[in-house]
Amino acid sequence: MLALGLFAIIALTVMNVFSLYDIRDRMTEGEEERQFQLAEELVRDVRQQIYTPFSGLREIELEPVEYFINSSGQFPPQLKEGIINASKNPLFDGIYFTPESIDPCQEGASIYGFNYSNNELELTSEYPSILCDGLVLARTKARIELNSFNYRWNNNVEFDAHRTMNIGFINLEENRVIGYLTITLNKDQIVNGLISPLMNEYFSADTAGGTVLWLHDWLNNEVLATNNNAIEYDIDLVDQRRVRFGTSMFSEWNIKVAFLDNSIATMYNATLVKNLIILGFAFLFLIGALLFMFFTAQRERALSLRQAGFLANVTHELKTPLAVMQAAGENISDGRVTDPIRLQKYGDHIYSEAIRLKKMIDKLLDVAKSDSGQALINAAPVDANELLRFFVSESRAYIEAKGFNLDLKLSDSRPLIMADKDNLENILSNLTENAIKYSSDNKNILFSVVTNQKEIIINISDTGIGIPKKHHKNIFKKFYRVEDSLKAKTKGHGLGLSIVKNLVELNGGDVTLKSEVNIGTTFKLRFPVLIPNEKTLNNQKNRITSTSITENNEYAQ
Ligand code: ADP
Repeated sequence: MLALGLFAIIALTVMNVFSLYDIRDRMTEGEEERQFQLAEELVRDVRQQIYTPFSGLREIELEPVEYFINSSGQFPPQLKEGIINASKNPLFDGIYFTPESIDPCQEGASIYGFNYSNNELELTSEYPSILCDGLVLARTKARIELNSFNYRWNNNVEFDAHRTMNIGFINLEENRVIGYLTITLNKDQIVNGLISPLMNEYFSADTAGGTVLWLHDWLNNEVLATNNNAIEYDIDLVDQRRVRFGTSMFSEWNIKVAFLDNSIATMYNATLVKNLIILGFAFLFLIGALLFMFFTAQRERALSLRQAGFLANVTHELKTPLAVMQAAGENISDGRVTDPIRLQKYGDHIYSEAIRLKKMIDKLLDVAKSDSGQALINAAPVDANELLRFFVSESRAYIEAKGFNLDLKLSDSRPLIMADKDNLENILSNLTENAIKYSSDNKNILFSVVTNQKEIIINISDTGIGIPKKHHKNIFKKFYRVEDSLKAKTKGHGLGLSIVKNLVELNGGDVTLKSEVNIGTTFKLRFPVLIPNEKTLNNQKNRITSTSITENNEYAQ
């Protein structure tokens, strides 16, 4: 049962530890996912800022534009307005229009350039050479798209990396390109005026935690912008996913993201540690409770076994003297025994068996009383010297008849304690009975009283069989008996010492034992001093004097 319980608790704990780690990982991953989506949002923002100035194109009917430009050399008004606005945007350096029939890659070719000073289009052959590259790309793409499917939009945008944006104007009716609006891009503005501020806005030091972004030019392996200058770009730190600007926009750039050990991860880790500590305590508590329950159950089991044994024993013990008394009484009442000597013998039998029975019943009553908390004490000042003197004088004959040498050492001061005299006698007689029962060849009993400033100690020592050390802690428990050969021969129920302990404690004292196998046993009863007497105070070292026993002492009276 214990093993099963332990297994269940350990299995539950292990499961919990795993799920706590899992939750932490999921939370961290979730947080990383959130940061990644934020980076994608940033890119959408960048794209929008580039496209927005030209978004009006979609609403313009482009077919007449070809005719208008060819005839006037200018953009029609509805287009011109948007172009003028775009020309004010610092992201764009220049705006050009190349009719489909003109190849800007050819030397000396003239295309339309937007004049920023008068907002007019004018034919020029002074245009940046990158126009040629952009237009080649744009033409190729436009041709593919116009040929491959039914193209539905009136324009087609193609970037030459970060250099040019080329918008093909499409005559949808004839499914052909009219010409290309080319916008040369200002790299510095795009990087430092647009992307870098957005990076800092989306991932400021306060909100980014440990997320670091780098705008990376992978072609030249160059970092163009970052939200955290303190962290150097390191490919090993970078998450596998990259955020791109689109299929052709800034094609050699992407945003690389690194999730460093950030404050959020630290927070999740702290939560994990906190949960693990709580779990640890719960685990220890459960194990403790389980062990406690287990040992309590074991104790209860041992107690009920001892109790069962005791009941069987006690029934026998009660029946035996009764049977003897019954038989002896019968013989006498039948008139079968008339001889005075035999009659006296029968009388003695009945008497001694009655005494045995009475002792037995007294013991049971004592246990029952202390179990139910009904043991009442009648405390009064008792002189331990006088108590011992009286007890020894009363029991001397009995003890010596059992073949024991008896010695008594009293304190030279007046050791007063506050206790119930009957209880003390009961204690002494239990311990004396044990000393007699558990001695074999070496038969000595010593009673002594020792005093110090705080307490009065009554020792009852014997030189008997002793109690093995391992039993000391249980010896005062109810029904506990040491299993050995002598015990088998001695009668007892394991109640005497529990009664002793109970009574000593009821009277404000405590009892301990010192015992060694085959050397002997001493039971020490300690009681608080009622009045610390002067002589005791002066005598730090207790001197014990041997006194003779006076039959006629004041205690006895
Ligand atoms: P009982 O004597 O009826 O068995 P007790 O409670 O008086 O019950 O004693 C419990 C056990 O302690 C005894 O069975 C015995 O093994 C041991 N014991 C008690 N007193 C002594 C002693 N003076 N010397 C050796 N063993 C003792």
